[in-house]
Amino acid sequence: GAKERGRNRFAFYSSDMADRAMERLHIEQGLLRAIAGDQLLLQYQPVVRIDDGQLVGFEALIRWDEPSHGRIGPDRFIPVAEECGLIDYIGSWVLHTACAQALRWMRQGFADLRLAVNVSARQMTTGDFHDTVRDALAVTGFPANQLELEITESTLQAVEHSRELLGRLKALGVLISIDDFGTGFSSLSLLKHLPIDRIKIDRSFVQDLPGDPNDVAVTGAIIALATSLGLGLIAEGVETPAQQQFLRARGCTEAQGYLFSRPLDVDDVDQLIATPRGRLS
Ligand code: C2E
Ligand code: MG
Ligand code: MG
Ligand code: MG
Repeated sequence: GAKERGRNRFAFYSSDMADRAMERLHIEQGLLRAIAGDQLLLQYQPVVRIDDGQLVGFEALIRWDEPSHGRIGPDRFIPVAEECGLIDYIGSWVLHTACAQALRWMRQGFADLRLAVNVSARQMTTGDFHDTVRDALAVTGFPANQLELEITESTLQAVEHSRELLGRLKALGVLISIDDFGTGFSSLSLLKHLPIDRIKIDRSFVQDLPGDPNDVAVTGAIIALATSLGLGLIAEGVETPAQQQFLRARGCTEAQGYLFSRPLDVDDVDQLIATPRGRLS
């Protein structure tokens, strides 16, 4: 009967929740070991000019090299780090590490590179994120105007006083971009009211270009909007020449994706920038 089904359903959900809680606890304990044992690392994905594949900079992406499970991606542990409060430590480590590394590449000849770093909601709500950014810049000497903070729409909505916080961050000289643009809500009012420099068109709108008429309409509208507001644009997840050509023809100026390069280890970036400022395509 319904009661029995209800009970089963309840039992199902509760054991599922218990499993998830166990997994979270497991990841949380693992993350503490990861921090203590230097198991976190950054890869860097090239960002290129969409016209010709000229390298303009990198997005830092965190990974966890877990001794027995191998490499674990951020989607699996960043949410846990946010829930248990480790994100503040990890986020600060990411900023310091990426800025110090990117400064080395500047000194190796890529003087005008742009470095993008992801920021999650919890980082902006707890502690003083502004001071974390300021300290990372001061300690490393990385130029503020070459650092871009990637923030999602949902983060901006979740964070109270996000407008004020962004204003203070902008006063440091850093750039602000909206990551995964189009996947959250109230995009238009965000664009109008917040001090944004650039938007990143989410991969979900790019992957079925140019064949899917809905995605053609959405990406066309995003590009037109950003252009008319004077915002920079990056298309995420560009994997095919057809996607590149479509986006370029519509007026998108920069891109990131497997067509140009996967996220790279530090050594591979060293090689990439050692060759006369290469084109990726
Ligand atoms: P994101 O910032 O939107 O990063 C783009 C994701 O798309 C990355 O996944 C990247 O490896 C992947 N990607 C890039 N080009 C392509 C492509 O052509 N095709 C496909 N299929 N995928 C592509 P990743 O590295 O697994 O990162 C996932 C998310 O984790 C990021 O999404 C970001 O939200 C978060 N994240 C990564 N690093 C950090 C970090 O240091 N701090 C915080 N708070 N979040 C981070
Ligand atoms: Mg990002
Ligand atoms: Mg994104
Ligand atoms: Mg994403």
